[in-house]
Amino acid sequence: MEKKKEKIIIIGGGPAGLTAAIYAARAGLDPLLLNGPEPGGKIITTSELENYPGFPEGIGGYEVMEKFTAQAEKFEARLEYETVEKVDFSKTPYQITTDENEYEAESIIIATGAESRKLGLDKEVKFIGRGISYCATCDGALFRDKVVAVVGGGNVALEEANFLTRFVKKVYLIHRRDKFRGSRIMGDRVKENSKVEILWNTEVREILGEDKVEGLKVENNKTGEQVKLNDVNGFFIAVGYRPRTGIFKGELELDDSGYIVTDKRQRTSKEGIFAAGDVQDSIYQQVITSAGTGAKAAMEAYKFLEGY
Ligand code: NAP
Repeated sequence: MEKKKEKIIIIGGGPAGLTAAIYAARAGLDPLLLNGPEPGGKIITTSELENYPGFPEGIGGYEVMEKFTAQAEKFEARLEYETVEKVDFSKTPYQITTDENEYEAESIIIATGAESRKLGLDKEVKFIGRGISYCATCDGALFRDKVVAVVGGGNVALEEANFLTRFVKKVYLIHRRDKFRGSRIMGDRVKENSKVEILWNTEVREILGEDKVEGLKVENNKTGEQVKLNDVNGFFIAVGYRPRTGIFKGELELDDSGYIVTDKRQRTSKEGIFAAGDVQDSIYQQVITSAGTGAKAAMEAYKFLEGY
């Protein structure tokens, strides 16, 4: 297969990648953006974004990413729906192999984001789509008038628990500690929601059911008491994310948790390769910070390519 030669390739089409595409296109770099398996990034699974400046009434996660995409296309960034399978950063130009093409690029911006962390329970993967979900916005309506459980104590779990009460009869919110990790405003909303029962200091030990979720066995980690929640039909897992960096192992410096190491100019351990968004950020993980690092990465790539 003949290799396609590109000046700059952006890997990933969430807020960081699309912002990098807008900046790179406006700088005349003619960027190619390769969307991965989740075009739009994980923000499209958020029902309502209330803290993105410029939208005082809030804006839907899907809607905001449609706007990001339209803006990148307006400046003629090229968006392709290919998944990167392999990279070789041992020499320049850098090599990228997707499920459809082979590319050579002088500069790369990595914005592959993060994916949902698993609990590691038996049947967790087998029951995906059969009661197990990692996305309440996507699957919540399937559980109308049913009883569901959400596990996690971060902003995502809190948001999902609240969102699900639009459809379901009851939500058990299962958290392993006695204090939420998420923000106070989100925590207060959950505590005030009469359809949510919070199970503090509680961990899920077993997913019950033969072919689908038919309950959960949970344990209070302070008292050791185990209880079966036999009424649960849906189980939403919201225990954080892990960076999508598998293909970059051995090619770039990663930290102990697998995030790409960058300096304050978004530079990675290889010259001309930059990273932006959740793939290099274990702390903030906001649309605004992802977009900000995407802009920085594109500005740095421009300087690199122009030899500044
Ligand atoms: P997170 O903030 O890292 O929270 C993960 C939660 O899952 C924590 O409560 C953690 O418990 C729990 N957990 C982790 N592993 C577990 C396990 N094996 N068993 C049981 N519980 C487990 O992740 P997130 O809620 O997915 O949010 C990701 C990022 O997006 C955060 O930075 C968050 O602030 C951001 N976000 C922001 C907004 C917003 O600003 N509107 C909305 C959504 C997300 P512990 O607390 O005990 O560690």
